[in-house]
Amino acid sequence: MARYTGPVCKLCRREGQKLFLKGQKCYTEKCPVERRGYPPGQHGPAQARRRKQSDYALQLREKQKVKRMYGLQEAQFRNLFQRAAREGGVTGENLLIGLETRLDNVIFRLGLAASRNQARQLVRHRHVEVNGRTVDVPSYQVSPGDDIAVKTRSRELEPIEVALGSRTRPDLVEWLTLDEKNRVARVVRKPTRDDIPMEVQEQLIVELYSK
Ligand code: SF4
Repeated sequence: MARYTGPVCKLCRREGQKLFLKGQKCYTEKCPVERRGYPPGQHGPAQARRRKQSDYALQLREKQKVKRMYGLQEAQFRNLFQRAAREGGVTGENLLIGLETRLDNVIFRLGLAASRNQARQLVRHRHVEVNGRTVDVPSYQVSPGDDIAVKTRSRELEPIEVALGSRTRPDLVEWLTLDEKNRVARVVRKPTRDDIPMEVQEQLIVELYSK
């Protein structure tokens, strides 16, 4: 299935919350979720007023929200879920940790890109190294002890400069360290659920896929 290339703000409005898909704009008053907090389309306002959703609808929306937040396609998301289920422990937490430790997400969390989309491009265009080797696979899973670096020739790239210089850049998560000047980072430990700053009811996703 092809990647969604339509207006991303519509996705946030559909889910009724900010998914931070557009970089700097997401942190400003120009964000459409701030201005029009109802689903897109002619019947959007009516949908927002509609009565209680079914359990299935709630589960589906939660899955769509997380999938869109990380920019994954259905097959990729389901594969990640199946791997999380095989790992043992709490499947929902494993799923979120698997999403967080994707290389494109790590680049985003480090503040080297303004959005996960931009981070994915940096990886795809071979600007990123892991442990001294070029990795151009956005879904690459990082592990504790991994060193992640922007290649020397790419350190001054405009999107990276802009992202690092942004006033709205979120604080660095505790499981990563960053030498901002040299654009070098390290995964100090595996993230836990508490390290993932997202309002997600991952149990609903587990229920959906367990039907
Ligand atoms: Fe658009 Fe970002 Fe706001 Fe989502 S959070 S609606 S992507 S500006």
